[in-house]
Amino acid sequence: MTNKHTILIIEDEKNIGNYIETIVNSNQYKSIRARNGMSGISLCVSHHPDLILLDLGLPDVDGMDVLRKIREFSTVPVIVISARTQETEKVEALDAGADDYVTKPFGSEELLARIRTAIRHRILAGSFAHREPSYQRDGLVIDFDKRLVTLQGEAIHLTQIEYKLVSLLARNAGRVLTYDFILKDIWGPYADTDNQILRVNMANIRRKIEKNPAEPHYIFTEIGVGYRMLE
Ligand code: CA
Repeated sequence: MTNKHTILIIEDEKNIGNYIETIVNSNQYKSIRARNGMSGISLCVSHHPDLILLDLGLPDVDGMDVLRKIREFSTVPVIVISARTQETEKVEALDAGADDYVTKPFGSEELLARIRTAIRHRILAGSFAHREPSYQRDGLVIDFDKRLVTLQGEAIHLTQIEYKLVSLLARNAGRVLTYDFILKDIWGPYADTDNQILRVNMANIRRKIEKNPAEPHYIFTEIGVGYRMLE
């Protein structure tokens, strides 16, 4: 009972804030609340929450600016909760360092599942700092030390770029990586590349590791946003 994760809810609308608080508190989490962006940032500094649920439409500062501010000093998982449904908004939030994005209206089960994933992912990320484990899911094994990929025990031959792409996604398994993030990570911030080169490489990877590339089992496409690897 003493090891409850603390969740900071930054939400100005009372009813939605109460709704989220009820969900969170009835599921073994402790919650603290902020009604605007500035108090959200200061509560983050003073209370070191384990996760933040962040509304974008806040009365004082835009939620995106709150997110950027928090990312200047903290890697705490942030799930953006917003009525903005545009893909560009989601991409912007993910690129600014959000771990996930939930669109209003949402159900309690969806919210809880995303909270669990974000917290688990952050715990894993912490342990990654100490060693280089391998990724192992459903017969696909990526050994980061040996740079070796096997599927059901058979070695898979990937090009340098394909390997970089798969290992980047595997190290962030369960998390959506945006096209822009991937392009910058693999080809560098100034490379003259576009989504097309990414799609070509992804198609090649899927031909090598997926039983049915049209219905991928390991690497999913988040249409208009990016890719996510099986957690
Ligand atoms: Ca709002």
